[in-house]
Amino acid sequence: MLILTCTSLSGGQGKTTTAILLGRRLAQEGQRVLMVDADPQSNLTFYLGHEVEENQPTLLEVLKKQVSTEDGIYEVSENLWLIPADDGLDKAQEFLSSSGMGAIVLSKRLKEVADLFQYCIIDAPPQRSQICLTAAGAADHIIIPAEASSKGVNSLIRTLALIEELREIDAFSGEILGILPFRDKWVGNNQVAQSKTSIETMRTIAETIPVLPSIPESEQFKKAIDKGVTLSSLGFTQLEAPFQQIIEGLQKNV
Ligand code: ATP
Ligand code: MG
Repeated sequence: MLILTCTSLSGGQGKTTTAILLGRRLAQEGQRVLMVDADPQSNLTFYLGHEVEENQPTLLEVLKKQVSTEDGIYEVSENLWLIPADDGLDKAQEFLSSSGMGAIVLSKRLKEVADLFQYCIIDAPPQRSQICLTAAGAADHIIIPAEASSKGVNSLIRTLALIEELREIDAFSGEILGILPFRDKWVGNNQVAQSKTSIETMRTIAETIPVLPSIPESEQFKKAIDKGVTLSSLGFTQLEAPFQQIIEGLQKNV
């Protein structure tokens, strides 16, 4: 099982959007995909249409080892499974920080189910929290979505610093598969100046890390998520270019 984490240290950078559309695309290709909602806002759980019922285990119980990892997994649709979250996941912060090895807890828990799935996609929270560290620490590969704006550039800088820190403590030894510019704005054939400048700045900061084809500002992404389908099934195959490139990058490592 190859683990990919979508992380970016600001709200609204496209982490959940990327996680869902990538997961659905892989599932559609016949891959067995496990999605992990590592954000107490639980947007991924909501968008995947899963309702957490009282007394049903979520990521919190999995992290705390109150249940086996398998018992925290629910089937969402064909080839797609989920370890859900609800706002109770906030309680994991204290557990992770007192465990003394918070950054590797999720990685250890996911090893229990490594034979059951081909891919695991983790949706990280926007805050620089213990949950964020354990989500990034579990990854073989990281994608950093970043809005094509100065807020996005700042999010990228802070996220790269966090990953460096994880490398220093040997909690992450994988690869940053790419930076994914989000909400790239175009008017007709002209890219809006702020988008252009921000993406150029991202390229400079990225150095050798690839900057992926961007996610354009478009209602189709929200539509695909709301309807629970892929962009190609809505007839917008060209908008899947970033996901295609991510999948090619992942498959090089299988
Ligand atoms: P958070 O840090 O709060 O979890 P996030 O990084 O997960 O945010 P998303 O939830 O993926 O970001 O996206 C932020 C918002 O942008 C959402 O409301 C989503 O519906 C919207 N959105 C998604 N795709 C696009 C797009 N292509 N163009 C414009 N808006 C989009
Ligand atoms: Mg999100």
